[in-house]
Amino acid sequence: MFGLIGHLTSLEHAQAVAQELGYSEYANEGLDFWCSAPSLIVDDFTVTSITGQVIQGRYVESCFLPEMLANRRIKAAIRKILNAMATAQKSGLDITALGGFSSIIFENFNLKQHTRVRNVELDFERFTTGNTHTAYIICRQVEQASAKLGIDLSRATVAVCGATGDIGSAVCRWLDAKTDVADLLLIARNQERLISLQAELGRGKILGLEEALPLADIIVWVASMPKGVEIDATVLPKPCLLIDGGYPKNLDSKIQHPDVRVLKGGIVEHSLDIDWKIMEIVEMDVPDRQLFACFAEAILLEFEQWHTNFSWGRNQITVAKMEQIGQASLKHGFKPLLTW
Ligand code: NDP
Repeated sequence: MFGLIGHLTSLEHAQAVAQELGYSEYANEGLDFWCSAPSLIVDDFTVTSITGQVIQGRYVESCFLPEMLANRRIKAAIRKILNAMATAQKSGLDITALGGFSSIIFENFNLKQHTRVRNVELDFERFTTGNTHTAYIICRQVEQASAKLGIDLSRATVAVCGATGDIGSAVCRWLDAKTDVADLLLIARNQERLISLQAELGRGKILGLEEALPLADIIVWVASMPKGVEIDATVLPKPCLLIDGGYPKNLDSKIQHPDVRVLKGGIVEHSLDIDWKIMEIVEMDVPDRQLFACFAEAILLEFEQWHTNFSWGRNQITVAKMEQIGQASLKHGFKPLLTW
């Protein structure tokens, strides 16, 4: 059986969902309450592949909220992720994806030192970040959505915001190796990591966001920001494709310009309906079919019986592994989201 560990995008979102699910005692509570709320299994479902194979899964809500990072409630954030992992393992899940900020917290706060959670000895082989599949899907979105918009990659400049991250660096590797993209712009805050990525790729210009925006025909947003940023569409080249892979979204949804297209990044569509509540809760447009690519990675690992931490650690995603998970993705009926 596979699992998904997720969280909601904000305190306001969490309060609204609690009300909707009938946990009215949670609905009026503030951040302190959510800091002490335990992780919960809130959904059980089956997923069918286009090959006919059927598997069972469970969703574990960690009760982590991005405000915990913004308000320096770091211990609470760490506790949320470790407890959710223990809940997943105790309920017998063979492979579980760490969605959204779960894997970022795991890495940034070096949670691999914490192998014991109460009476559970965590077995990290049972967890995956899902980032290999997410990076693969974002790259296919770059290739396919740019063609749809008439942007020729061989003449296009692609800016990756969050380029030195786990997903961002994998996207850069793929775009360099598998496409003839004309130019790559690398954006993040830490200059040392940017320089080392540039050396690894042997290409790419390091620029600040303000300088990069007017040059970029395509912008991939994969920065780990707890809140979205507003950008001024008038400075962008036209046409322009913005692929927002962040969770919560990196971009404020206000951009409205006929020649600027914003695509939800790292989202897949399954070819068959999935009978679950969870994608409605996270406000997916077509909740029976659409899901986060990192969650889909756990589903693929279960279909293929690859019970291993396929995506683990930071900045180790290879193009070969992206191709491997990409083949499994196609085989079982997943497609990158291409509608805006
Ligand atoms: P990482 O922590 O590995 O990388 C984050 C990157 O963002 C780094 O390059 C970091 O560099 C950069 N960054 C952070 N803050 C800023 C900022 N304010 N301005 C510019 N750059 C910034 O994260 P991941 O690669 O694991 O995840 C990236 C995003 O993708 C997250 O929002 C995550 O929730 C989302 N995600 C989506 C999934 C899906 O299925 N759709 C699956 C998994 C993750 P620096 O610190 O130097 O600025």
